[in-house]
Amino acid sequence: MIANYHTHTYRCHHAGGTEREYVERAIEGGLRILGFSDHTPYPYPNRFTSGIRMSLEDMDGYVKTVLDLRDEYREDIEIHLGLEVEYYPRHFENLLRFAGEYPVEYFLLAQHCIEDEMEGAYSGAGTEDPGLLERYCENVMEALRTGRFTYAAHPDIFRFLGDPALYDAPNRRLCRCAKELGIPLEINFLGLMGKKHYPREQFWQIAGEEGCDVIFGSDAHDPADVWQPETLKQAQEMVRRFGLRLVDTAELKDPFL
Ligand SMILES: [Zn+2]
Ligand SMILES: [Zn+2]
Repeated sequence: MIANYHTHTYRCHHAGGTEREYVERAIEGGLRILGFSDHTPYPYPNRFTSGIRMSLEDMDGYVKTVLDLRDEYREDIEIHLGLEVEYYPRHFENLLRFAGEYPVEYFLLAQHCIEDEMEGAYSGAGTEDPGLLERYCENVMEALRTGRFTYAAHPDIFRFLGDPALYDAPNRRLCRCAKELGIPLEINFLGLMGKKHYPREQFWQIAGEEGCDVIFGSDAHDPADVWQPETLKQAQEMVRRFGLRLVDTAELKDPFL
């Protein structure tokens, strides 16, 4: 693993470690590229405050810290400034306006909820409703088609508990869409570490059949997790088992076009 674009910091309120600790751990593991993608602040109406992401006020400090470290460690590692972003259609323009004030280099798509986190359903809640699965997949595809996302993090986060036969068609459309657009899908190491209900084998079976590009992302919420040899082996095993096309670096897409 030479690059990881999926890194959090203490600023999102559910991860530990400073930016510097993540950088030092990445260098220790021999990574050439480290991207920060903390959970984006979301400028919701009525100042709704989310407990699972940076607050609007955290953004200045996040950006300045990452850019300073990028300069300081220039000789040792290539650092990039990104955000992990949900595509919430009703609020996305506001988000672009907010984030566009900063030199953010890339967005990772992470569709944690359907439509939004105030009224929409949590993607990982677990449901037998194929209608919700459809809406999740539609949300993801609409997001990818905006051209603003560098890759899709844990695309298999939707926890469908119904008939597995119903899982196939919408996820196959999602995979075909990513393939057509040339956008990699992420095998998520946080999930592989046993902390989540993904990676879901059925999803990666489909991704393999559809010839999708895949990328590894540590989704580190702790500096120790930036680089994990054991998890890497598991991910490589998945790549072999499902015949996935692994890319080791991502082409960063300008979120502001
Ligand atoms: Zn997180
Ligand atoms: Zn993440």
